[in-house]
Order: sequence, then structure tokens, then C-alpha cells
Amino acid sequence: MSGQTDSKRECHERHANQQQPSMNNMTPLRIGILNGDDIGHEIVPAAVEISRAAAQLHDVAIDWLPLPIGRSALDTHGHTLPPETLAGLTTLDGWILGPIGHRAYPQLANAINPHPILRKQFNLFANVRPTRSYPGIGCLYDDVDLVIVRENNEGFQPDRNMVLGSGEFRPTDEVTLSVRVITRTGSRRVARAAFELARQRRRHLTYVHKDTVFKLSCGMFVEECLKLVPEYPDVLVDDVIVDTFAMRLVRDPQSFDVVVTTNMFGDILSDEAAGLVGGLGMAPGLCIGDGDVVMAQATHGSAPDIAGRGIANPYAMMESTRMMFDWLGHSRGNDGAVRMAASMSRAITEALAIEAARTGDIRGTGNTVTMTQAVLRSLRA
Ligand code: ATP
Repeated sequence: MSGQTDSKRECHERHANQQQPSMNNMTPLRIGILNGDDIGHEIVPAAVEISRAAAQLHDVAIDWLPLPIGRSALDTHGHTLPPETLAGLTTLDGWILGPIGHRAYPQLANAINPHPILRKQFNLFANVRPTRSYPGIGCLYDDVDLVIVRENNEGFQPDRNMVLGSGEFRPTDEVTLSVRVITRTGSRRVARAAFELARQRRRHLTYVHKDTVFKLSCGMFVEECLKLVPEYPDVLVDDVIVDTFAMRLVRDPQSFDVVVTTNMFGDILSDEAAGLVGGLGMAPGLCIGDGDVVMAQATHGSAPDIAGRGIANPYAMMESTRMMFDWLGHSRGNDGAVRMAASMSRAITEALAIEAARTGDIRGTGNTVTMTQAVLRSLRA
């Protein structure tokens, strides 16, 4: 069992029992701004702008720290993840990471994909990815409300399941092997994060796997999920084989609440889930771990095909940021940040309802700026 998660819970309780200082006396939250690549330069500033407005509304003190990352950091600092960025991150409560377009990086030693390093170094092992319907934006159903909790640091992803070298190798020109890493610790801690989340929602957890074929690896993941069941008697638990889940997600998404699964299954299924509710622009995410930091990171990539045109949907980045403030508000006992997140949620929902404000990918006639302005107007109303 994850001692760190326990300590987080104790931290919540400790804060709850403390007499809260007035909001102005709260230690400022230290938040990093990492634009990422391509549309990141458009949607991250939008998320920061609405956060500033919401923080002002609720008198939440925030110290913002912009940090270089990605292609622009390669140009200015000679590295896509400069040492000063890593050093800066260690001083923060959380940060907003824009999408990274690493596939377009030049073949240089310093042009690395920062994702696996950030997730590993800060032990951000659970990627919490909600899927939610909003009216009028082209959802396939009007009542989807589920969260996929994706394991973040092991699995099939060859760039993060080894300390050295790649998890893929080619012994002969004819043969390529990919290693999938599943650990008891990794499975247990992501399962616990999902159980805890289920408790805050409709108390239904589905663990998704393929232990019929991956008897040892998925088998271990399943064993670790099952070990936690007695600790959560209030949570209804069931399991679905991954291929069946992919089908049921399309036909019957309302039957799921919180879903926990291994890294690659989670990667694929969360994109599928986004397709139910308007596409990747509607797919937020929050990377959490057993430390005290969080990373707001939308599910989608850097969308180079639409970068620089002002038409990127900022919802996923805004909602990821909102989730971060809500998480920090609870973990730091900062009621203002919790209220700030609630106001952001209301304002984003109201803005999404305005056809002229929302972006074209979700049946709007607006753009990134009109959506941002609509959220700001709603916040200030
Ligand atoms: P990655 O593998 O890095 O996640 P990807 O291959 O999934 O990236 P994306 O960059 O996510 O690709 O883009 C996939 C499609 O979704 C593109 O057509 C892109 O324009 C669209 N898309 C992604 N994000 C957004 C957004 N925020 N707003 C509008 N369209 C988006």
C-alpha cells in the first residue's frame, strides 16, 4: 500500500483540522508555465489568463514561474529540457505543461522528449483523464461522465520503462522485440489513486486488462487491484477485458465511472473516450503522484497542423489547469484555490455553451481568443 498516498490523506485531514489562516495569509502557490510546442504557445497562455482572473476573484496568491521547454528552449537554451527548467520545477507546487511536439525535433542529442523525464523524475505515476459531455458541441452522447486513470511510468512505452537504453530492440533485421514492464508497486499505487478518486465520485471502479493473454503482466496488475478491494468496501468494483472495454466505451459509456488501466491501454482508450465528447480538444488530464506536486497536461498533442492559426481549442488545457488548482486547493488546505477551481469550472461550462465563443472543432464559430474572452467575461460577471 502506498504510504505516500496515506500521507497525502493525512495531510488533507491535518489541514481540515487546522484553523485556516485568512486567505491573504496563505503561502502563495508556486506554479510553473511551460508552453510546450506548436498550439501550446496559444492554449497555455489562455489557461494562465483565466487562472489569473479566477485567482484574483478569490484572492488566491500565486507566484508564476515561466520556464523554457521544447523546441523554443532548444533555440534559446540549447536543450529541449534545460537544466534550469528541471531545477525550477523542484521549487514548485505544480505546473502547466503545454503539448510537446517532439516528433518534429531535429536529430540532436539535446533534442529529447521531456515527457518521460518529467513524469519519472517527479514520480507522476497516475494520469487522470476525465471525459465529460457538454451540450451543443457534437458529443455522441449527452451524458458521459467518466475518468480514465492511466498508469504513467511503465508498461509498453519504451522510453520510460528502462533506466538505460530502450525497451525496444532488434536482435536481427527480421526480429524486433518490445519489453513491457509491469511492477507490483506501479500497479498498486495507480490502483489506489483510482480507488481514492472513485470515492470522491460515484464509487464505481472498473479495472481494465487482458489477463487472458498477458497472464503474468496483466495478471499482476489485476492481483494488485484486487488486493485493495477489502480496503474500499464502499466502492463497487468490476473488471472488463480491454477489447470488450473498447467496444463498450463506444456503446455504453454511461456504465463507467472511474476506470484504471495500464499505460498503453490507457493512452489509447482515453483518446477513444475523447472521441465521444467532441475530440481531442475536449481531453484534459492531470498527472499526479505520491509527491506533493502535480502537472496539468492535456491529453492531446501539439497539433502542428493547426498551430499559429488561433483556432486551437483551449478547453483541454484550461480544464487540466482547473483540475490542478482543485487538487492543490485540497492538498494544501487552500480553500480559495478550491473555490477558484469551482469558478473556473462554471465559467468554462458557460463559455462552451456559446456557439460564437467556442472553437470550430466543437461546432463553434469562434477561436482560441473568443473562447478565452468568454470564460473571462463569465468569471467577472
Ligand atoms: P501525440 O501523439 O503527441 O499525442 P497526436 O498524433 O495524437 O499527438 P495531436 O497533436 O493530438 O496528434 O492532433 C491530432 C488531431 O487532433 C489533429 O488534427 C489536431 O489538429 C487535433 N487537435 C489536437 N488538439 C487539438 C485542440 N486543442 N484543438 C483543436 N484540435 C486539436
